[in-house]
Amino acid sequence: MKKYMMALDQGTTSSRCILFDKMGNIRAKAQKEFTQIYPQEGWVEHNPKDIWSSQYSVMTEALTMLGEDECIAGIGITNQRETTIVWNKQTGEPVYNAIVWQCRRTAKEIDRLKEEEPALSAYIMEKTGLLPDPYFSASKIAWILDHVENARQEAETGNLLFGTVDTWLIWNLTRGKVHVTDYTNASRTMLFDIHTLCWDQKILDYFHIPASMLPQVKPSSCVYGYANLGSLGESIPIAGAAGDQQAALFGQCCFTPGEVKNTYGTGCFMLMHTGDRAVKSRAGLLTTIAASADGKAEYALEGSVFVAGAAIQWLRDGMHLIEQAPQTQKICESVEDTAGTMIVPAFTGMGAPYWNPYARGMVTGLTRGCQKEHFIRAIMESIAFQTMDVLTAMRADAELSLLKLKVDGGASANDFLMQFQADLLGVDVQRPRCIETTALGAAYLAGLAVGYWKDTEEIKENWQIDRVFTASMPQEKRQELVRSWKRAVDCALYYAKWEEEHD
Ligand code: ADP
Repeated sequence: MKKYMMALDQGTTSSRCILFDKMGNIRAKAQKEFTQIYPQEGWVEHNPKDIWSSQYSVMTEALTMLGEDECIAGIGITNQRETTIVWNKQTGEPVYNAIVWQCRRTAKEIDRLKEEEPALSAYIMEKTGLLPDPYFSASKIAWILDHVENARQEAETGNLLFGTVDTWLIWNLTRGKVHVTDYTNASRTMLFDIHTLCWDQKILDYFHIPASMLPQVKPSSCVYGYANLGSLGESIPIAGAAGDQQAALFGQCCFTPGEVKNTYGTGCFMLMHTGDRAVKSRAGLLTTIAASADGKAEYALEGSVFVAGAAIQWLRDGMHLIEQAPQTQKICESVEDTAGTMIVPAFTGMGAPYWNPYARGMVTGLTRGCQKEHFIRAIMESIAFQTMDVLTAMRADAELSLLKLKVDGGASANDFLMQFQADLLGVDVQRPRCIETTALGAAYLAGLAVGYWKDTEEIKENWQIDRVFTASMPQEKRQELVRSWKRAVDCALYYAKWEEEHD
């Protein structure tokens, strides 16, 4: 049995490669940033060749660190989701840069769809589980076909291929032999029927996307093809793929309905496993496919908070109130409370469950007693309050009770934040020892497909707790805080309405 599983973690700002052993320990890790391209305000692109070359270079680097030959049992891929690449089937040359998930260039086209085609918008929500948005791949593919010379014609004659980043990497790893994606990545294109697990012809027709461009869609854990890496190894099975958030859900061993993970990074991404039930949200959450080990479709509800760790960065780089993110823990613990101050960091509007792009940040309850420490604590608490709001919506939508919250991401290292989160939710917050859950999830998916791990029970044994935070706040205190937060949110939302009312 070969010794390690290789995870390729292709993120928005860097490509990483991590080699895991059977216990889920990290044995080698390499990372390389690549160039972000901003051709215009609101546009974001990557060079697909940079994505591939940086990923290849970290694979080499990680393998060199180990210095062992023929040691890789399989490759699992996890990737930035929705990012769109179109390339020529014969030459492998991209016809345009990758249009990144953050890119808003197709906002007008999506506005038009929502205004002029309400029935189709509802159809899209029903079939794909997504609210029509420029974030997803569909309108990005259409943009490339509409704006690159000859692209539509070439696509219609079957000469072009589309892929999300997983597809692009697998195509390159197999030297153009395999054109596939997995269910989770397909579920973020806004072209995929998450119930029948097929591309949806009606949506393809609306966007004028020829079906011949699309990859074959397969489960997240299966052998897609073999990577021939020359001196690095021959015929290594590529056996797992999942979008980053779904991979993290899997890496956290959330396999059963009601299990939830929250990633505290720049923003927060929360996913709740809902088993074989695709739960339709009433609260503005998305329905998406969860990665599963046995090839059948499983689902998750997803909610995101736009500003979480980003608010800590703002305290550091904008307000100059702190020098390093980790010091916030001691500062927050140095005061009893926020002296009545509440902050809603709605810097770019509010996401789930409020969905108001016009709301803006709000500070409420300021008195002369508010000092720097209270202000910093109010920012930190806002991350936990926003998470609470998403989780409340999820609980209501899924009609599932929640026993614990599994956490990961950079800001989950903050003990104050985790304790406050447990207090607000009234459930245990569990922080695992390995917070590289995204890469680990990809390794697990691949490892299960090639028999490196036997089953999910064996994987669960690897999941070890670093620390559990248990709720200890009195009920009245919690209710009082939640009330103050609601008032602050109402103020942030009222800010958006004021213009209308005073025109
Ligand atoms: P991303 O993957 O979105 O880049 P990470 O998971 O690497 O994010 O987390 C980085 C974020 O976490 C930053 O926004 C940073 O401000 C925040 N962060 C990191 N360490 C801490 C800490 N100890 N306390 C609070 N916030 C932290």
